[in-house]
Amino acid sequence: MAIVRSVVDNASERRRLSLANPATLEPLGEIEVQSAAEVRDAVGRARKAQPEWAALSFDQRARYLRRALAILLDEQDRYVDVIVSESGKPRTEARSMAIFAASDLLTYYAKRAERLLRPQKLRLHGVMRVMKRCRIVYRPLGVIGVITPWNGPFVLSINPTAQALMAGNCVVLKPSEVTPRSGALVGELFRAAGLPEGVLEIVTGDGETGAALVEAGVDKISFTGSVATGRRVGEACARQLIPCTLELGGKDPMIVCADADLDRAAGAAVAGAFFNAGHYCSGTERVYVVESVADEFTERVVERTGKLRQGVTGEFDVGAVFWQDQLEIIEHHVNDAVERGARVLAGGRRHPELKGLFYEPTVLAGVTHEMQVMRDETFGPVLPIMRVADEDEAVRMANDCRYGLGAMVWTRDTRRGFELARRIDAGGVCINDMSMVYGVLEAPFGGMKESGVGQVNGETGLKGYCFAQPILTDRFGGRQTADRYPYSAKADEGLRRFARTLYGGPLGRWLS
Ligand code: NAD
Repeated sequence: MAIVRSVVDNASERRRLSLANPATLEPLGEIEVQSAAEVRDAVGRARKAQPEWAALSFDQRARYLRRALAILLDEQDRYVDVIVSESGKPRTEARSMAIFAASDLLTYYAKRAERLLRPQKLRLHGVMRVMKRCRIVYRPLGVIGVITPWNGPFVLSINPTAQALMAGNCVVLKPSEVTPRSGALVGELFRAAGLPEGVLEIVTGDGETGAALVEAGVDKISFTGSVATGRRVGEACARQLIPCTLELGGKDPMIVCADADLDRAAGAAVAGAFFNAGHYCSGTERVYVVESVADEFTERVVERTGKLRQGVTGEFDVGAVFWQDQLEIIEHHVNDAVERGARVLAGGRRHPELKGLFYEPTVLAGVTHEMQVMRDETFGPVLPIMRVADEDEAVRMANDCRYGLGAMVWTRDTRRGFELARRIDAGGVCINDMSMVYGVLEAPFGGMKESGVGQVNGETGLKGYCFAQPILTDRFGGRQTADRYPYSAKADEGLRRFARTLYGGPLGRWLS
């Protein structure tokens, strides 16, 4: 969406927010901020629907995902229209980030959830190996509160929702107030797919509604958003002793080694920084390039950046900034850098001709870690490039950061790239590409340091929506425990000897 303003209307009891298209500035109507009571009602409906939903087989649940997929593919242009109207992004970005990614994850979880969540036999060790059998069953948690941000409003909403549903939970989803309609499309899609009443509830509103959801008696919160809000959500969950995953901001570094393919590295730096107008949690937020190749790399980045087209309709490459508050942060970071001595090699200002929220793709050189643009998340179309003496310095600088979401390494020597990647404090690293771990559904995705708590996606993500319950079966019908009393000196001596025999020699090691 969008440009968001509070509607001042004393006659109405409800708070409302008005929205406008960030590219055209055209009004997009209003949304109501739902109250805590309404959120509790939504959770109540989800709670009521959950036992029946959980009782369905995986295949029965998967059928709803497949139906949703078919509808999404048939109606993709309408979905793209809504997303573009709220974000001002190029249609190709809406299609790749929302339609393509959602189609992939719906297909994946519909097919794989059963296998990933089926009861698991554990091989036990020691005495238990002889006496017990253990199986783990993955039980749904119940009702999951999903709270999502504006930068990928459809995919970041449908992804946790699909995982939680396949694991047998019901979901109450609170999309961002900046992109409420793109988020609400998830509800519309599953409704059209025939999902039973109450299994997925959508609540609309801003932080007040989000905070109400956290307090509404859910069994887990899946939160994606900023560090500041994530901290508040995490504190509220800890107080209530409910689990949460926090997928938070990033300041992803890209390291360009001396042996990198400079043309490709430059292309990926440009894509990583300007894709989705830079509103990408794993966007390329800072580059460390080795001195010996810095000039050539920077020249190629500037040349590619100069060719990017901004626009409102038709064919263009970089869309509007989605939200007016983000535009202020972007301007502030660039101005702060310039005041402290950075050089603007491209962009560095709002687009002079486009009347919407457009900021020109910006390349900065001569940056330092004293500047905000190198320390805090900019989340906009800004690419600061810093020269470093060698790869060791690059890793040091990459790790000199409170965030740790993703990172990129560019080198022709992939073995060395792997070794460098292991030294970077980041939730996931891509060698010779822009950050795209989120799109690899099998890989656990999450942040180190302030970038988050917990990991999502794939087996880890699905199991995160479950309680792993071990069920032990005694192989001897429980006789040894049933006959435990009375204690005696003889039994104690027997245990002493048994401990020595078992752990004092090879037998214990063999059984372990
Ligand atoms: P935000 O924290 O302002 O808002 C996120 C959501 O939380 C919104 O729905 C908002 O209404 C809600 N909210 C606000 N206050 C709340 C409260 N007190 N309790 C509960 N909910 C509340 O974040 P944003 O500006 O929408 O999103 C941008 C941020 O999200 C960036 O930092 C970006 O890096 C991050 N992000 C992270 C990932 C990831 O996977 N790690 C992915 C996308 C975006």
